[in-house]
Amino acid sequence: MFLDLPAYMLQEQDAHAAEMERTFIAIKPDGVQRGLISEIVARFERKGFKLVAIKLVVPSKDFAQKHYHDLKERPFFNGLCDFLSSGPVLAMVWEGEGVIKYGRKLIGATDPQKSEPGTIRGDLAVVVGRNIIHGSDGPETAKDEIKLWFKPEELNTYTINSEKWVYG
Ligand code: ADP
Repeated sequence: MFLDLPAYMLQEQDAHAAEMERTFIAIKPDGVQRGLISEIVARFERKGFKLVAIKLVVPSKDFAQKHYHDLKERPFFNGLCDFLSSGPVLAMVWEGEGVIKYGRKLIGATDPQKSEPGTIRGDLAVVVGRNIIHGSDGPETAKDEIKLWFKPEELNTYTINSEKWVYG
C-alpha cells in the first residue's frame, strides 16, 4: 500500500504501526433500544479510529457474568448482568493509537451525572444503571474482553485510505 512513499514516510508508518492498539467497545441494550448505534459509531469513526470487528449479540446471563467478573462482589452485579443479557448488544473492536485510553475519554465517566458534556454518556445518558456503553479500561482488560467476545477470525486487518491523513 505505501510502497511508493519515500523512506522517511515509511518509517513514520512503521512507528505508528507499533503504537496501534485495540479496545473492546459495546453499546449496551439501552443504547441499542434508544437508537444510538449510529451516533456512537460515528463518534469513534470521526475521531479517526478504525472499526475492526462488529456484531449484534444477545449475551446469555452466564456470558454477562464472565464479562463483568471483576464486579461480582458489587451489590449491583446481578442486576447489571440481567440487564446486559436483556437484549441485543452491539459488540465492537476499535483500533488506533491510544484508542484504549481515548475511547474511555469519548465515553465519559461511569456515572453520566459526572460525565462532561461532549462525552457519549454526558450527552446521551442520565443514570449509572443505564449508561449505554462499555469500553475496556486498560490494555489487559482490552485483550481479555476482545478474546471473550470475538473469535480471532472475526477481527479484520485492513488499511483505510484516510489513515495516512489521520496519522501523517
Ligand atoms: P465502567 O463501565 O465505566 O468501566 P465499572 O466497570 O465500574 O464502570 O462498572 C460497570 C458497569 O456497572 C457500569 O458501566 C454501570 O452500568 C454499572 N454500574 C456501576 N456502578 C453502578 C452502580 N452504583 N449502580 C448500578 N450500576 C452500576
